[in-house]
Amino acid sequence: MGQLKANGYQITADASDADMVVVNTCGFIESAKNESVEAILEAARLKTEGSATRLIVAGCLVERYRDELKAELPEVDAFIGTNQIMDILKVCDPKVDSRSLPVVPLGNQSATYLYDESTPRVLATPSHYAFVKIAEGCDRPCAFCFIPQMRGHFRSRRFGSIIAEAHQLAEEGVKEIILVAQDSSRYGEDLGKTDALARLLRELSHVEEIDWVRVMYTYPTHISDEFLSVIAEEPKAVKYLDMPLQHASQKVLRLMKRGGNRASLERLIQRVRARVPDIAVRTTFITGFPGETEEDFNELLDLVRNVEFDRVGVFTYSDEEGTPAFELGEKVDPKVAKHRRGILMKEQARISRRRNKKRIGETVRVLFEGDSTESDLLWQGRMETQAPDIDGCVLINDAPDDFVPVPGSFVEVQITAAQEYDLVGRIVQ
Ligand code: SF4
Repeated sequence: MGQLKANGYQITADASDADMVVVNTCGFIESAKNESVEAILEAARLKTEGSATRLIVAGCLVERYRDELKAELPEVDAFIGTNQIMDILKVCDPKVDSRSLPVVPLGNQSATYLYDESTPRVLATPSHYAFVKIAEGCDRPCAFCFIPQMRGHFRSRRFGSIIAEAHQLAEEGVKEIILVAQDSSRYGEDLGKTDALARLLRELSHVEEIDWVRVMYTYPTHISDEFLSVIAEEPKAVKYLDMPLQHASQKVLRLMKRGGNRASLERLIQRVRARVPDIAVRTTFITGFPGETEEDFNELLDLVRNVEFDRVGVFTYSDEEGTPAFELGEKVDPKVAKHRRGILMKEQARISRRRNKKRIGETVRVLFEGDSTESDLLWQGRMETQAPDIDGCVLINDAPDDFVPVPGSFVEVQITAAQEYDLVGRIVQ
């Protein structure tokens, strides 16, 4: 979007307005692939029945199924893979017959694309927060995951580039920076640095005008004491740890090629909580991985009951061709996987409601975000322990008469009620 805007294109969020439609796809799991294909077909209709004259398909789905997509979607004018982002200008140029442009295959993990602070960007998020990608690709062997084949080898952005981008974002009014990568906790390893994520987080926490720095997608074997110390010591490093664990049974974790067991994971969470009191721990799990028995699932359920995570997301296993897990026997019936997911989610909802209720009466600092997505009658905001889009929020139903709502400002909210995932409160200051 940044490249296009810098070259005179106007960006519209309403596809029916556009002369040219770019669909950026995901190819991770079945549901995401279906959603991507739906979006392409919808965009194709805009071309045949509406005013769009050119349709570009970009991203991971192209990387994974380029030949099939090319053969089955004649309406699409060009396909660009994850390593061809810079070709966006070429394929959008109406003078170029872009269907004849080669789609460069990622091949055997040859992707090298990494943006830097000079790459033009258009924020697709509300103006008070921004995602900053600190590394690209992944070298881990997780058996269920096709991502390394779509995004290439792990490679980190330069330290100085990320800091420079943070300063630029701060100047644009961003208050919260969310660091993302496929494997954030490995940041800097390929540059020969140790504990680079901890150093990066500390440095970013000193950028004036930035109030919160959040790290997503850490890996359980890579949570260093130094990283936890930075979260404990730096007021702007939010007390939040996102760490997908995927399972608790030693057997399933081994089959997933991730390692660890329930005891080691519980020890890890204890260490995290001892070092950073009041930290919110978010994780995700997969139910129905090949070979998962009732006993394995019960071990996972016990972990969830025992640890009482602050936030939990649960996915059912998606059998992805080309991954090692696809070759495993003992596939679990998808209905069983769904049922197990339901049990875990219900258990977590009970835990979450009970923990949320304990907060009634507390006054908390909230990043005010504006109108609630649930109701016109409410505002909403987030505490530092709530990430946008994936976690609950603080619904605001009352404020002093002279309160001026400014998205991106901080307010003090007294919690008056608690739901399963959201809290409800009134602004006191
Ligand atoms: S660490 Fe994440 S991106 Fe990398 S292989 Fe495992 S699940 Fe996939």
